[in-house]
Amino acid sequence: MSELKKIISCMDDYDPEAMRVDKAREFIRALIRPIQTNERIAVRGSLGRILGEDIVSNINVPSHDNSAMDGWALRGEDLGEGPTRLREVGVAYAGRGYSREVAKGEAVRIMTGAVMPPGTDTVVIQEVVQKDGEYIVVPPGQKVGQNKRLAGEDLSVGKAVLHAGRQIIPADLGLMASLGIAEVPVRRRLRVAFFSTGDELASVGSVLKEGEVYDSNRYTIYGMLARLGVEVIDMGVVRDDPASLEKAFREASENADAVITSGGVSVGEADFTRDLMIKLGEVLFWKIAMKPGRPMALGKIGEAYFFGLPGNPVSVMITFYAFVRGALLALAGRTEEIELPTLSVTCSTALKKNPGRTEFQRGVLARNGQGEWEVRVTGAQGSGVLRSMSEANCLIVLEHERGSVKPGDKVNIQLMEGLA
Ligand code: AMP
Ligand code: MG
Repeated sequence: MSELKKIISCMDDYDPEAMRVDKAREFIRALIRPIQTNERIAVRGSLGRILGEDIVSNINVPSHDNSAMDGWALRGEDLGEGPTRLREVGVAYAGRGYSREVAKGEAVRIMTGAVMPPGTDTVVIQEVVQKDGEYIVVPPGQKVGQNKRLAGEDLSVGKAVLHAGRQIIPADLGLMASLGIAEVPVRRRLRVAFFSTGDELASVGSVLKEGEVYDSNRYTIYGMLARLGVEVIDMGVVRDDPASLEKAFREASENADAVITSGGVSVGEADFTRDLMIKLGEVLFWKIAMKPGRPMALGKIGEAYFFGLPGNPVSVMITFYAFVRGALLALAGRTEEIELPTLSVTCSTALKKNPGRTEFQRGVLARNGQGEWEVRVTGAQGSGVLRSMSEANCLIVLEHERGSVKPGDKVNIQLMEGLA
């Protein structure tokens, strides 16, 4: 049995004519086999890449107990019920410590980050200490061990500090640097080919003839892929004729891990497009219970994963965010936070919605007059109105079972800004 058929046989209520959004995701997740190949690159270049192996600490960070504050280091056992008078015997700086044993009744002036002098275990902040010549007076109420960072409290020897499958963020660069790591194993970059189909499409730079529209999908797809950090292969516009399409599909699937097309999957498209996809690979055609973005094709052409998105400019983006983004992240080897997180916020506008499909309306999340965050819908929500995506900073997700929304109701949103 083929891979696709096997997955289908394990799913209950598989219905390609009315595929639920959550079912479609489940299917796609089962289909994806993440890439395994690693390459070693300099730490700075690894930002946004997927970590290929666990990073295990080979040192303690910090390497010694040190002071968390500017003040005086002292022996906790010297602290009495009332004020404590101690003799200052020296200074410990960050990077230049005080190495002699501190005796009973003594204290050392200490700076933040300086190693705790031998014999001391407690730091009293400078603001509460009174100076009296070579003596200091510490007020009561101090706790033994306070204001001290422990060796290994940030990272300890032998512990995995970052796990394979993680997409590297700025903090991780610093974390690796703090371990003295200069090179890091990451998954090779994913290669994604894409093209648009349609005889009515004109490329930017040409003059529009009657009945033509500019191909905008290749630009939105490019933008969304670029944010994911994958290597893109833009194959342009391909005419709706069997020979050109076959050539494009073959070329794309030989050169890329994944192929994305837009247009050509809706009913009413020439049948040869579907026939061709079936001939070249193993492809399923779904009508998804969602709005916008109903038709979608999906499967494998050769070794490449194939996502045939609808042609409408908004549908393309919504289906990309709903299915392709997560699939590509999983394929690239990311194991954490693959789906866009959802937040629950108050909706200020009424939204009409029938149960039985998932809707992704374009929303603007902003502060209201009282300074509270709330979401409103952008204007016209037609699947051809790309402006609605431009004006939006989030998607309002109206789940499958949900009905209409009244102003003041809570809705779930997914932020688009700043997310890969
Ligand atoms: P299709 O899915 O091919 O039937 O296309 C649906 C609608 O989307 C039609 O109005 C097409 O003109 C439009 N469309 C398809 N592909 C693109 C594209 N690459 N850029 C802009 N509009 C497109
Ligand atoms: Mg078309």
